[in-house]
Amino acid sequence: MRIVVVGAGGLGGPIAMATGAAGADVTIVDPDVVELSNLHRQVQFGGDDLGAPKATALAAKIVGRGGRARGRAARFEPGNADQLAADCDVIVDGSDDPRTKFVVADWARARRRAHVIAAAVRYGGNVFTSAPGAACYRCLFEDPPDEAPTCGEAGVLGPLVGWVGGIAATRALRLGGGDPAVAGTIWIVDDLRTGKAARELTLARRHGCACGAA
Ligand SMILES: [Zn+2]
Repeated sequence: MRIVVVGAGGLGGPIAMATGAAGADVTIVDPDVVELSNLHRQVQFGGDDLGAPKATALAAKIVGRGGRARGRAARFEPGNADQLAADCDVIVDGSDDPRTKFVVADWARARRRAHVIAAAVRYGGNVFTSAPGAACYRCLFEDPPDEAPTCGEAGVLGPLVGWVGGIAATRALRLGGGDPAVAGTIWIVDDLRTGKAARELTLARRHGCACGAA
């Protein structure tokens, strides 16, 4: 199973580590380097990684545990998406950039790839899961928000990303294993501090969405 993980930070770390440990061949895409302010929520990195590209540093952690992984120090964009992800079975977004999430989701829909889009900001997060035929990201969110805070701007509760990332990794492995039951769903945790259970919704395709024309 080949998995592309977009984002090597708070969410991308647990997603890549868990799928890599499960035997997936992992390609990690992230343009940034490790900074001191990342370490509280990006537990895959330590002081020795400061200044290193996140993508290759995270891939090295997986390889160091006997897995197969490689890092690409790049931003996932429409112009390089085919080159970065052409041979993947599943693509997972764990970036903290809403625009990147739409790029990943749009590419996956156009190329008919199973995909998982994970998000976490402040105290809550969600995991969207789709595959060809199921509701797409734009069925739910339509267009990128004009202004949405990133984790770096709004902050994120450190333990939250481990939970959300773990759910995203599980969904990716199920999709990669050929289980279609998780496609067309969104899993939501509103506020980790309350201890309340997460919710999951099954999504219908939206009338008029571009995916209906495909
Ligand atoms: Zn749609």
